[in-house]
Amino acid sequence: MRCVQCGDPYLARLRGRRRSCRSCGAVFLAAPAVPRPVDGDPLGPYLPARMIRWIHDNDDERPLDRDTLTRWYREFDALVARARTDDTAAGLLAELSEIPAGDLPAKPAAFPQVCAALHATCYDLRLAEARLAPGDPWAAERLAHVRAWFAGPGRAATWLAAPQAAPPDPESVERLLPLPERFESGPLRTLFSALFQVERGPSPTGVLDRFGAERVEAALRAHLRDGSHPLREQVTADLDAR
Ligand SMILES: [Zn+2]
Repeated sequence: MRCVQCGDPYLARLRGRRRSCRSCGAVFLAAPAVPRPVDGDPLGPYLPARMIRWIHDNDDERPLDRDTLTRWYREFDALVARARTDDTAAGLLAELSEIPAGDLPAKPAAFPQVCAALHATCYDLRLAEARLAPGDPWAAERLAHVRAWFAGPGRAATWLAAPQAAPPDPESVERLLPLPERFESGPLRTLFSALFQVERGPSPTGVLDRFGAERVEAALRAHLRDGSHPLREQVTADLDAR
């Protein structure tokens, strides 16, 4: 951008879109920034456009693993928070975001919380929304992106990819039939290893909300009968279907 009076490029940012020219002192209103399109960007399914622009401006291509996404979300959330009081950050954000900075949530659901809601509910978007922040469109946007990432390049970060737990002893599984009102930690490990071959990851309420007691009990009986894990297969198939 150049000065509207003398054409020099040496501009100082003032509040909002106001700029002052360091050469001639003119003060004027900069044209509103129109963030560049990101259609077809490979990060498109996993991150909002404003973050994709910021990543391409600031970071190399990285593996789309948990460490990278944790850092991207943490640093972008910090930028949005800073933009409330810092004009330089506000100007940067205005160039990145098609949504006015002031409309972005001051304290969005943090990436680890979004992951936790999805883990707890076996990656069910609707249940994860109800659990994390019902009716919050910003949480919903984040959940949809993070779920798409879990279904794709983030699969290694799901509990499905955790080292397989040892099979539970059949008597402990039988003691879960019918399902108890609440689970102590030992029976909970038994439940998760019989259903999902993991010792932790989902939450008992998340599993019951997702599948219902009848299907959970049927899956425990199937496991006792032939060692199968039909609900684990269901969770995998749902993620594969995206
Ligand atoms: Zn000037």
